[in-house]
Amino acid sequence: MSQRITILGAGLVGSLLSIFLAKRGFKVQLFEGRPDMRLGTSDGGRSINLALSHRGLKALEAVGLAEEIKNACIPMHGRMIHDLKGNLELQPYGKKGEFINSVSRSGLNMILMDAAQKSGVEIVFEAKCKKVDYENGIAYFEDKEVKSDWIFGADGAFSALRNSMMKTPMFNYSQNYISAGYKELCIPAVNNAYAIEPNALHIWPRGNYMLIALPNLDKSFTCTLFYPMEGEQSFEQLRDKKAIKDLFENSFPDTKELMPTLFEDFEQNPTSGLVTIRCSPWVKGRTALIGDAAHAIVPFYGQGMNAGFEDCFVLDDLIEQFGTINEEMLAYYENLRKPDADAIADLALYNFIEMRDKVADPKFILQKKIEKKLHEQYPDKWMPLYSMVTFSDLRYSEALAQGMKQQAIMDEVLASKDIDENLEHLDLTNIIAGLD
Ligand code: FAD
Repeated sequence: MSQRITILGAGLVGSLLSIFLAKRGFKVQLFEGRPDMRLGTSDGGRSINLALSHRGLKALEAVGLAEEIKNACIPMHGRMIHDLKGNLELQPYGKKGEFINSVSRSGLNMILMDAAQKSGVEIVFEAKCKKVDYENGIAYFEDKEVKSDWIFGADGAFSALRNSMMKTPMFNYSQNYISAGYKELCIPAVNNAYAIEPNALHIWPRGNYMLIALPNLDKSFTCTLFYPMEGEQSFEQLRDKKAIKDLFENSFPDTKELMPTLFEDFEQNPTSGLVTIRCSPWVKGRTALIGDAAHAIVPFYGQGMNAGFEDCFVLDDLIEQFGTINEEMLAYYENLRKPDADAIADLALYNFIEMRDKVADPKFILQKKIEKKLHEQYPDKWMPLYSMVTFSDLRYSEALAQGMKQQAIMDEVLASKDIDENLEHLDLTNIIAGLD
C-alpha cells in the first residue's frame, strides 16, 4: 500500500510539494488553514507579486507546469533605478536573454492548487493544524486528528509543526526581525497601459530605505515601501497625510502622478515586519519542515519562494534515489539543504544594503561593468554573485563562498589607482588568476 502523506499548508511550497509527491504515487492530503482562495480573494483584492527565477522554474518544469506559469509572468530584464531627480537608469540583471519574472502570488498559488487536485491530492480547507505528535505522525486540528506515515510542515514562517518541535529538547531556533518593515502600495494602469516601463523591476534607492515596483498582468504595478519601523524617520511617524505626502514628494518625487491612491493604500494596507528564521533539526520522528517553515528569509534577493521550490525539487530527487521516503532519506535532505538555506538567508540580508543603497553608488556600477566583462570573456570561471544565485542552480552555499572570493578580488581591483580611466585596459587574465 502506498504511504500516506499529510502536508500542512497549501501555500506556494505545500501545493507544489503535494504535486511532486502525488506524481510519485503517494496518497497525499493537504491541509490549509484558510478558506479556498479560488472562491474569493483573501487579500482584499490587492495584487501581490513575486519574482520567480531559475530555481523556481526548474522545479515547476519538473512537474510540467513551467510553460503555463511562464504565460502568466512578465519578464523583468533589469533594475530600473529612479534617482531623486527622476532620472532613470536600467541595470541589466545578467547576460542578454537573462531575466527574472514577475508573477502574481495568488495566481501562481491557484494554478498549483488546481494542478495538485488534478494529480489526485485531496485539499482540505479551513483546517488549521494546532499541534503535531511528531513521533507518531499525528496532526491535530480543531475537529479531528489525522495519522499518516509522514507529515511535512509547509505552513510558513509561523509553522505549527515547528512550534511542536520547539517544545522538545535540543531544538535550535532563532528569529530576527530587521529594523525595516514594509507596506504594499500601487501604481495603477493609465488608459489601460503601463504607467512606467513594464519589463523591469523599479527601484527608488534612498540609503536606508527604498521603494520598489513590480509589474502585474493588468498593467498595474505593485509597489513596496521598505522603511524603518521605529525612530525619527519611520513608519511610526507616517501617521497622517502630510507626513506621507512629505516623504513621497521629497524622496520619490517622480511617483507623484503615478500613485493616485497613495493615501488610501497607505491606510488600508498593513505594515508588516521582515524576519529571518533559522532552526534545526528540520526532521524529527515522522515529520519534516520545508519552505518558509524551515527557513524564512527577508525578500531582498527574491529567493524565498524559489528556495522553497528548490527544496521540493531536491526532496523529489532524493525520493528517486532512495526509492521511498524514510528516515535516512529525510536526514539526507536536511543535511543537504540546511547549509544552502543558511547561505541564502545571509545573502538576502546583504542584498537589502545593495538594493536600497549600493545600486546608486558609482563604485558598485563600475564593479558590475568589470564583472560583466569577466563573465563575457571567462563564462566558466567568473559568474557575478547575482547570476549564480538567480540564473544558476549552483548550491546557494557554494555561490556564497565563490561570491566572497570574487568580492575580495574586486575590492582590490576597485582600490587600484585610476581604475575609471583604465577600465578598457584592465588585465582580465590577471584578475581571473586571482581565483586559483
Ligand atoms: P507561505 O507562503 O507562508 O504559505 C504557508 C501556508 O500555510 C499558507 O497558505 C498558510 O495559510 C498555511 N498555514 C499556516 N499555518 C497553518 C496551519 N497551522 N495549518 C494549516 N495551514 C497553515 N520569494 C521569492 O522567491 N521571490 C520574491 O520576489 C519574493 N518576494 C517577497 C516579498 C515579500 C514582501 C515577502 C514577505 C516575501 C517574499 N518572498 C519572495 C518570499 C515568499 O513569499 C515565501 O518564501 C513563500 O511564500 C514561502 O512559501 P511557503 O509555502 O513556504 O509559505
